[in-house]
Amino acid sequence: MQPDETVAVIGAGMVGVCCALELQRRGLKVQLFDRKAPGQETSYGNAGVFARSSLIPLNNPGLWATLPRLLGNRSPQLRYNPLYMLRQTMWGIGFVSRARPSAFNETATALDSLIRLSMPAHRRLMQEAGVAHRLRDNGWIFLYRSAEAFANSRFARDVYDRFEIATQELNQSALLDLEPHLQPIFPHALWIKDTCSVDDPGRVVAAYAALFQTRGGALIQREITALERDAQGLWQLRGPDGHTTTAHQVVVALGPWANDLLKPLGVAAPLAFERGYHQHFAPGSGVTLGRPVYDTAAGYVLAPMEAGLRLSTGVELTERDAPANRAQLEMAEAAARQAFPLGARSGLEWLGARPTLPDCRPLIGQSPRHPGLWLAIGHQHIGLSTGPGTAQVLASLMLGENCSIDPGPFRPERFIA
Ligand SMILES: Cc1cc2nc3c(=O)[nH]c(=O)nc-3n(C[C@H](O)[C@H](O)[C@H](O)COP(=O)(O)OP(=O)(O)OC[C@H]3O[C@@H](n4cnc5c(N)ncnc54)[C@H](O)[C@@H]3O)c2cc1C
Repeated sequence: MQPDETVAVIGAGMVGVCCALELQRRGLKVQLFDRKAPGQETSYGNAGVFARSSLIPLNNPGLWATLPRLLGNRSPQLRYNPLYMLRQTMWGIGFVSRARPSAFNETATALDSLIRLSMPAHRRLMQEAGVAHRLRDNGWIFLYRSAEAFANSRFARDVYDRFEIATQELNQSALLDLEPHLQPIFPHALWIKDTCSVDDPGRVVAAYAALFQTRGGALIQREITALERDAQGLWQLRGPDGHTTTAHQVVVALGPWANDLLKPLGVAAPLAFERGYHQHFAPGSGVTLGRPVYDTAAGYVLAPMEAGLRLSTGVELTERDAPANRAQLEMAEAAARQAFPLGARSGLEWLGARPTLPDCRPLIGQSPRHPGLWLAIGHQHIGLSTGPGTAQVLASLMLGENCSIDPGPFRPERFIA
């Protein structure tokens, strides 16, 4: 790149905002586009957890044992629309086939490196953006409703040990010492200590975007409807009103909407949508929850947020824009009410889509055959956590510098010819 080249980042979720900040930090002139205010979509509605334990994707070797139950389509952890999965057969085969140990090890190692790269940068950015008070540094807790369920988590616990992730096993009494308002229905729990969380992920993204602006970055609220490369090799970003912006380099950080702009260019990333819901609840009177908890049997996360307790669900595999189906949220609510004294629902349900590639690793890098088109997409369950690491890898590749982690596992050529 030449020093005076301009970069347009499209998408101001956690991933796009971090890319904009990092490219700006390295001296580039950056414009950041979103059709909404920053952090209003997937990066708003998630569980707010930054966890080293998220290095284990859904398609891990443990999937083989649970697959028959999951295929029954009644599990609170995973529901699917059979017609959607028929249309996604190749994605499904690619996803399940990567549950084999060698593929899993490659993915877990890659995700671990990205998560570890991200956390110090998040801490720095939260300080600089004035939102460090939103960060809780007290881990999250996996809850087990039986000794058998805890025994079945052996594989995950071995992985945490192998990757030196700090955990502590808790019996019921130790769990209740930490979280006294949980009901005594969990004989075992695992406290994942190498984890922090925030009380409003959307506001953290908004604060990062404000930091980008304070440092001279241009944040432009505009929908981009088409991307084209002109005869001079410059990228034209077209808006619905015919407005066009020109940039030397463009970063697509559109989360679940990435293919809307990529497909017309012949760049179709094989993304499937792992949708998830959340609902806020008032805590019961005098009741507190100190950190997020994950009820492993019911597949929900209950996280303390500024807006109340946020109950977020497991996975619903279906079209991104299919109508909402409250069934999974209601199952989660019923299970959460057994576990914790929830008060009344507050606000409306929220629905978002985790964009997931068959190997559960994001695509980070330049798109083959399209010089100057950069991808930062496919962050599945961990895009809030891994925005800053993604940004560092992308910026190093763009500037031809050494990456601090191996970028190979994230290269777009995995799926894009
Ligand atoms: C229920 C649930 C719980 C989750 N929990 C966690 C968690 O605890 N920890 C974690 O790390 N991750 C979690 N995730 C995943 C995480 O939220 C996502 O991986 C992450 O938010 C993706 O960020 P992004 O910036 O790629 O996408 P997004 O945040 O979706 O950003 C994409 C942006 O693109 C914009 N956009 C779309 N189309 C256009 C267009 N044509 N023109 C201009 N702008 C456009 C959108 O407005 C949006 O702002 C969870 C996800 C869900 C659904």
